[in-house]
Amino acid sequence: MNDEKQTSFCRGIPYKKANHLAYLRIEQSLFETEEEKELKQRNICCATCGHPVTRVLEKITIRGMHEWAFPLYNEIIQLGCYRDAKGCVGVQQVSHGYSWFRGYAWQIQVCENCYTQLGWKYISEDESFYGLIFNTLQDEESKTTEDRE
Ligand SMILES: [Zn+2]
Repeated sequence: MNDEKQTSFCRGIPYKKANHLAYLRIEQSLFETEEEKELKQRNICCATCGHPVTRVLEKITIRGMHEWAFPLYNEIIQLGCYRDAKGCVGVQQVSHGYSWFRGYAWQIQVCENCYTQLGWKYISEDESFYGLIFNTLQDEESKTTEDRE
């Protein structure tokens, strides 16, 4: 793969698509492979402290996409959408101000262990989801199966 391919643009600002999380590198095949099955069970953790934040299984698409990018102060913030993120806690009030996802109010979410900001919870009348910043997340440390509950 050449580097050109990995450069994306958001409103004219170039950025490299996040691919440090294993599940982002896997193209889903029609018939689930063993590797995909194993990946789905994994936690996605806080990059700062390693606390489990969400799971690959919680991955959803919003308006047809899982991965989103938005400009913020000349930087590109890359988000993934997740149905639930049990390792997050909401701080401050729910804002009905300008939202990256129109029709959704939002609330800042931090890691419940180290209080690093991980993203936002988006809330509409019908549903809610978490938009978590890829750069603040890491794969779970690989464990042997015996360590799993
Ligand atoms: Zn943390």
